[in-house]
Amino acid sequence: MTGGAVRILGVRVDDVTTAETLDLFRRYIAAGRPHQVVTVNPEFVMAARRDAAFARVLEAADLALPDGQGLLWAARVQGRALRERVCGSDIVPAAAALAAREGFRLFLLGAAPGVAERAAAVLTADNPSLQVVGTYAGSPSMEEEDTIVAMVRAAAPDLLFVAYGAPRQDLWIHRNLERLGVPVCMGVGGSLDFVAGVAVRAPRWARRWGLEWLHRLVQEPWRWRRMLSLPHYAGLVLRARYLPNVR
Ligand code: UDP
Repeated sequence: MTGGAVRILGVRVDDVTTAETLDLFRRYIAAGRPHQVVTVNPEFVMAARRDAAFARVLEAADLALPDGQGLLWAARVQGRALRERVCGSDIVPAAAALAAREGFRLFLLGAAPGVAERAAAVLTADNPSLQVVGTYAGSPSMEEEDTIVAMVRAAAPDLLFVAYGAPRQDLWIHRNLERLGVPVCMGVGGSLDFVAGVAVRAPRWARRWGLEWLHRLVQEPWRWRRMLSLPHYAGLVLRARYLPNVR
């Protein structure tokens, strides 16, 4: 079904393609039990090294998508292969199309007020039979948690996309997974912003060349501090491969 898993600096990444991911979503929904999907990229890997709770959530996820050229590169350095980059921002529209075809119900949670509604309108325009059964900005704070979980449960979606940014969205899903009872729960970061058109994705050539991070940095310069982890990541991957005994 999938190509197995690769470990990048201790973090599990599943070797799945986009087609296999959508097929797994279909199976999760058929099975009915809640599943957590995470979109691992190099920033996730570095965050997991500092944050044990986040590392445990990634480890416990049912599916860890290879969401970053930096992961495909790291796998190659190890002499392993990840066949394809599968990123959240591609999966959101693809899963919406799948949901429209199969009659699956979708709930969009998070992002700034109004963004989930705009994303829902765009996805429904592209897929007229799509059932978006709920949208809500809210926040990942504890005070709102019970209300939001009750709202999602009442809407009974098959797919729940949560846009509170990593790691908060993934911790939120992990904490609430069982009581949410939604077969596919995925943290989607800035994907709703892209779908709604409030943020613009890097051009295709930049994504192919592994430069999406540079495009985001130009658009959202406040990310520079987080992105300092990227050269550190590259150094650690190379050191693990070529100097495994050096501490
Ligand atoms: N976000 C939110 N509430 C919060 C923090 C973030 O709704 O308390 C939303 C934000 O509006 C954006 C999304 O989370 O739509 C993703 O944020 P970011 O781009 O920082 O996440 P990344 O893609 O880097 O994981």
